[in-house]
Amino acid sequence: MKLILLGAPGAGKGTVAKLLTKLDDSVQISTGDILRSAVAAGTELGKQAQSAMRAGDLVSDDLIMSIMEERLQEDDCKSGYLLDGFPRTIPQAEALKKLLDRMGEKLDAAVEIDVARDVILERLTTRRTCTGCGAIYNIKSNPTKIDGVCDKCGESVVQRDDENEKAISNRLNVYNDQTAPLVSFYKNEGLLLSINATSSDTVINIIKEKIN
Ligand code: ADP
Ligand code: ZN
Repeated sequence: MKLILLGAPGAGKGTVAKLLTKLDDSVQISTGDILRSAVAAGTELGKQAQSAMRAGDLVSDDLIMSIMEERLQEDDCKSGYLLDGFPRTIPQAEALKKLLDRMGEKLDAAVEIDVARDVILERLTTRRTCTGCGAIYNIKSNPTKIDGVCDKCGESVVQRDDENEKAISNRLNVYNDQTAPLVSFYKNEGLLLSINATSSDTVINIIKEKIN
């Protein structure tokens, strides 16, 4: 499968992407995870991205496109990919379109996961993320077995830097201003699959039904 996952922060893009990787050989590509690893490792890329991320702003389109041009040409992408958090702006969507044309590839769909704002806010404030493998937990609905320790890899599970109230509200505004326009973009491309569901399993079932 070659899918784009669209949706506000907290809509469940990461969770859905992880579940979809179990259906075939597609890989999850999360620009947020790539950037967070770069920040944690203190690389040049991480240094360039850190302040925008902490504030809940977007990092530059040029930076993202240079990461993604390389990533999408790696071997593991041949069997499919689930783009989680990319593209995020119209210029990124246009650049992706050109890149895929050049590579002779076609997307199966751009899936919009549409979740109500109050559900999103609740999820983001209670969400915790593994610093090792990126696994997502929730202190209320899906806690780790041992407090603060990832069930899967044993690394520490923390609240993200950008999951304080101010950065969350900024991320939601940034989504509405810069990313929501992608819904019309992909509708025009004939690729949009819009799903209104809060359960990741429901989202997966609809994707399975509509794609193939
Ligand atoms: P969210 O849960 O908000 O969807 P992500 O993990 O996808 O968060 O992204 C975290 C941060 O990384 C964003 O707030 C932004 O600063 C940066 N980022 C991730 N993907 C992109 C992108 N495609 N374009 C610009 N910035 C990005
Ligand atoms: Zn982990």
